[in-house]
Amino acid sequence: MARRDYYEVLGVKKNAGPDELKKVFRTLALKYHPDRNEGNAEAEQRFREVAEAWDVLGDPEKRSRYDRLGPLYTDSGRPPSPDQVNDMLREAFGGLFRRRRADAPGEDLTYTLTVTLEEAAQTIDRTLVIQRQVRCVRCVGTGDHPENRTSCASCGGSGKSATRRVFRTECPACDGKGYKPAARCDRCNGEKRLPLEETLRVKVPAGVATGSKLRLRQKGNDPAPAYGAAGGPTGDLYVLVQVSEHALFKRRGPDLLAEVPVTLAELALGADLVVPTLDGTTTIRLPPGTPSGKSFRLNGRGLPGESGKGDLHVRVEVETPTELPADARLALLAALTASTHPRRSEYQSAMKVRR
Ligand SMILES: [Zn+2]
Ligand SMILES: [Zn+2]
Repeated sequence: MARRDYYEVLGVKKNAGPDELKKVFRTLALKYHPDRNEGNAEAEQRFREVAEAWDVLGDPEKRSRYDRLGPLYTDSGRPPSPDQVNDMLREAFGGLFRRRRADAPGEDLTYTLTVTLEEAAQTIDRTLVIQRQVRCVRCVGTGDHPENRTSCASCGGSGKSATRRVFRTECPACDGKGYKPAARCDRCNGEKRLPLEETLRVKVPAGVATGSKLRLRQKGNDPAPAYGAAGGPTGDLYVLVQVSEHALFKRRGPDLLAEVPVTLAELALGADLVVPTLDGTTTIRLPPGTPSGKSFRLNGRGLPGESGKGDLHVRVEVETPTELPADARLALLAALTASTHPRRSEYQSAMKVRR
């Protein structure tokens, strides 16, 4: 992997003094620290670059080698591992950042599942393909090779500090573990976990709506605990349901609304109207003289809800023709006069007195 220029990463001149470097590093490390940018992959990447640059430029010996060799410079040939970064931070900041809790759980994951309205009406099985971080099986989530660990020289492997401190009694050299990490695990490169693509079956219960949440326990990420810590439980997977818009139905809780455009003739003369239902069609009878805007309720043809099934409301609305052939225009004028429209003729006589 091509390395970026460390001076460029920190945004300093080649002749920057140690104090300036340290100040810049602290500012950038604070800005991009994972504790302050939870779940932000870009910040995490920046943070690692900054830490790697500081690892070299913050050490006078490494820095002079880097200045001589430039891009050819290689220390171990690899960027620092998360544990090395943590050690560097602890040195640079003292107790500014909380240590990652030993029992910190793995992250929860979310997956957005889109279903049709028809699917939402019944319990269905869906297959999801997700990617989660699982504990590396080679190092069992330690990030190194446990068989090659060396006992900590400072505390003789006890993990306890020789000089009792006020707040901490762990050995500062090994952070209370009693041993030093061995070489980084060659499968996970010290990350303690690896991405795994997993296929899951999920049962989506009838009646789900947009915003419904299904929880799949322990299908989130495995934890990546601090070095030597056991880590907490695996995170959960939250499936966020989204019900797609439907061309024929609108939804009001468990009820469905369907708006059906009809002709004036159908309303005036009555008609058998074929209307949609979730599982097909049905026919409703419009009596002669049905007003535009009238709703017909079809009991139990909605979606499953908390108190039983909802209803389907079919609303008929007249569509006013805008382009009529000449003979139809004449026929309409002849047929639809004030005499066939009682309210219209009432209105007309009321208007007459005003003229
Ligand atoms: Zn120790
Ligand atoms: Zn590993």
